[in-house]
Amino acid sequence: MDQLQVNKPVKTFFVTSEEPCPACSGTGYAANPLWMAYWQDYDSMPPPIKDAPDFDDEQWSNEWARKHGYRDMDKLGPEEEPCDDCNGTGILTSKLPLSEALVTLGYYIPKDDNLAWLNQALNEGDGVYRP
Ligand SMILES: [Zn+2]
Repeated sequence: MDQLQVNKPVKTFFVTSEEPCPACSGTGYAANPLWMAYWQDYDSMPPPIKDAPDFDDEQWSNEWARKHGYRDMDKLGPEEEPCDDCNGTGILTSKLPLSEALVTLGYYIPKDDNLAWLNQALNEGDGVYRP
């Protein structure tokens, strides 16, 4: 008696996915933590100090920079820099097996890894198997 042969796929199909970068929320930029600390300190200053006629914004800012180890505010660097995770694009692109994409999209993949049905669907239908 012949044993049932399981057809293993000879090709692996891949798809490309894109998603907003979680590190920068899709903006492509990451805030400089030093500038975030600066704005937190600046914004937490009581209005009587900030609004005083003799308050020198530039002097206060440069003193803040010196307290944090910088000669002046010009040495702090940019407030935002391109995100390292997405290289400033705001989008993460990844390549994944088609079978994994189909599972992500809610299509069933048999646990025995027999993907013959999938190959048949791809070759005969519109490229999408709908269980
Ligand atoms: Zn990013």
